[in-house]
Amino acid sequence: MQIEVVTIGDELLLGFTVDTNGAYLARELAPYGVTVARRTSVGDGADEIAAGVGEALERTGAVITTGGLGPTSDDLTKPSIARLFGREMYVDVGVVESLHRRWKSLGRTGEIPRSNFQQALVPEGAVILANAHGTAPGIWLEDERGRWVAMLPGVPREMRGMFADALLPRIRRLMTGAPTVVRSLTIRTTGIAESALSDRVQAIDGWDLEGLSLAYLPGWEGVDLRLTARGLGSDEADVRLARVADVLRPVAGDHVYGAGNDDLAAVVLAALRAQGQRIAVGESCTGGMLGSRLTAIPGSSDVMLGGVIAYHNDVKMAQLGVGADTLVTHGAVSEETAREMARGARAALGASVGVGITGIAGPDGGTPEKPVGTVCIAADVGGTVRSLRAIMIGDRHEVRLRSTQAALSLVRRLLAAAAAGETPA
Ligand code: ATP
Ligand code: MG
Repeated sequence: MQIEVVTIGDELLLGFTVDTNGAYLARELAPYGVTVARRTSVGDGADEIAAGVGEALERTGAVITTGGLGPTSDDLTKPSIARLFGREMYVDVGVVESLHRRWKSLGRTGEIPRSNFQQALVPEGAVILANAHGTAPGIWLEDERGRWVAMLPGVPREMRGMFADALLPRIRRLMTGAPTVVRSLTIRTTGIAESALSDRVQAIDGWDLEGLSLAYLPGWEGVDLRLTARGLGSDEADVRLARVADVLRPVAGDHVYGAGNDDLAAVVLAALRAQGQRIAVGESCTGGMLGSRLTAIPGSSDVMLGGVIAYHNDVKMAQLGVGADTLVTHGAVSEETAREMARGARAALGASVGVGITGIAGPDGGTPEKPVGTVCIAADVGGTVRSLRAIMIGDRHEVRLRSTQAALSLVRRLLAAAAAGETPA
């Protein structure tokens, strides 16, 4: 099935709001074999809405809109599409009742603002899509030829709820014939460049994608390998995705840390938990970002003890026991300092695993020997200390993000080696 999405709102055209609704709908519909053929954004004007939706209807006969359903005078989606369909508007009693119910359930007293009742005005013949997350009801409108428009709210949280609760089931009922799907499988890697990965993949003997597509998606976390199956039945798609992924994974080797949306911080916490280890961090240039990532995972308190933001050299020395001579001889940004920070964090917090990160996040402070982006990272896993020095690309924020990922990756490798009884390289 092909559909079009029309997102409505002046703020989208002015660039103050990024159209995440359109992206969300395309992503969510793809697995069911529904393709978004075109996405359009139009302003709040009634004529603009009617033109955008009218043209989309001509092409596909199936349109989802978001925005302009609210109670204010700039919310013109319903009347303008009603006019397009040649329908009058009437007051829906059910919507009025649900407005009263919601008003009460929020503990509000007094009169409901008159504007709210504009939400109870719906086109004749409309099916109301319930809104469990707000007041504006969604609308499903269909003409004699079976062409339809589904109107969803603009607020992303409400839009997503209504899509899942009311719209997706309706669209799936419309689909006939042997269903084909669009399905993806993502392998997450870190610490290897996109080009290096691609070389390895090209070198696979008898490499066969079996009709799947393979995308390399680089970001600060690493490179995701995303396999996508299109136009197959769901069982066949799953079988082929699994088979090709099984060929790809060993090629990326121990750069692979997870699948789908896995977060390396969660992967590391799980490995620590499995080994009965507890971690502490000593952070300079990342200023607590690694601690933030680890504590962002619910339930991390059993393995994440805490950390020291050792930004100033005095703190590196006093709190983490970094030697003054180390700082003088090798500098604050050096593998030697990072190793002492890792050891110091572990000792200071009574952990079994310690991490140290020190670097030059920029934009200033680089030297020819240590350019901006130079980061030294160390991990101490039960007394086995390993370190690395790398030049992270990107601006200050990205250098810091990449540093947390590289640190987690180092810890993950050391834990894996410990679990296998191997001495890590
Ligand atoms: P409301 O009942 O709040 O008025 P509405 O259906 O009228 O909802 P809009 O007024 O168009 O929706 O948008 C509400 C808010 O939702 C906007 O301020 C904007 O931040 C966000 N929003 C609207 N459209 C989109 C979109 N396409 N992508 C992401 N966010 C959006
Ligand atoms: Mg609005």
